[in-house]
Amino acid sequence: MQKEAILYQRLPNHKVRCLACARYCEMGKDQTGFCGIRGNKEGKLMLYVYGKVAAAHVDPIEKKPVSHYRPGTKIFSIGTTGCSWICRYCQNFDLSQRRKIEGQDYTPEELVRSALDYKCHGIAYTYNEPTIFIEFARDCGVLAKKNGLFNIFVSNGYCTPESVKMMTEFLDCITVDFKGNGEQKFVRRYVGIPSSQPIFDTLLELKKTNIHVEITDLVVPKVGDSLEHARNMCKFIYDNFGPEIPVHFLRFHPDYKMMEFDPTPVEILEAHHEVARKEGLKYVYIGNVPGHKYESTYCSECERVVIRRYGSDILKWDLDDQNRCRFCLNKIPVVGSLDKGYQEKRFELVL
Ligand code: SF4
Repeated sequence: MQKEAILYQRLPNHKVRCLACARYCEMGKDQTGFCGIRGNKEGKLMLYVYGKVAAAHVDPIEKKPVSHYRPGTKIFSIGTTGCSWICRYCQNFDLSQRRKIEGQDYTPEELVRSALDYKCHGIAYTYNEPTIFIEFARDCGVLAKKNGLFNIFVSNGYCTPESVKMMTEFLDCITVDFKGNGEQKFVRRYVGIPSSQPIFDTLLELKKTNIHVEITDLVVPKVGDSLEHARNMCKFIYDNFGPEIPVHFLRFHPDYKMMEFDPTPVEILEAHHEVARKEGLKYVYIGNVPGHKYESTYCSECERVVIRRYGSDILKWDLDDQNRCRFCLNKIPVVGSLDKGYQEKRFELVL
């Protein structure tokens, strides 16, 4: 299946300019963009992976990772082939770096029906960068919302004002994933982009919307673990989103072309956590270290654990029905409650 894209401009001489991600590829006739899945066919930009689902899985929302939006819900997660980045450590490289149009055909109706059949509460567009297949995500997402499901992007943030505008049509939540604190040398060498500035610009665009935003940062030992750069990133986040936005520092694991690296030492992740807290951020997490105390949510007033987690599991919920700390009644900025409403959802498709 393939479909004409929406986010593009026609240029003279049958050329097109893609507006989906910050690479803004210009393509002549029969050329394909950097991501390998959008290309110029007879002067039109086509999304070649429209409806081509290369991976699908049911996950807890905590696995995205998302900690402050609908905790405890089940998510139907999908991805396609291709990506706008070429991270040397990508854990999904088999999908993201496959410049081939492959996958199982799904219409938006079939995809939403699958999510309902699996009794999921939302759909995540993940595994590869979803902005590159945003027109398919939008068609699924609009129908998903009609059926009471929410939509999440797990994104590298390398977006455009045009793609963020399209997100507002269907997206409820996004995790924007910095790598190596978004530091220039790191992203040039290990991610393959000329500048990290578009990630910061995307966040400023997202700030204008009602989409729930969480930040992740993959801390890569020795080459992407500078506390000074982490501080700069946290300052930007605090200055623009305030103290309550959740920030997750993720442990790196060797993969793909970076097998010679070690996993990030836990002390380095803890040092990043401390930097973020000192910069005033209240909800800071450490990810990919199952059992670490900073997987849990702490009340910012009385400092007691209000959501205790182990990996993706919620072990204990100490918020009241208004999401206030049960111990001191401080309001915790969590959207949705574990206790309320999820069981009442219908799981039948409405077109
Ligand atoms: S989405 Fe793909 S084709 Fe479009 S600008 Fe980005 S890399 Fe290029």
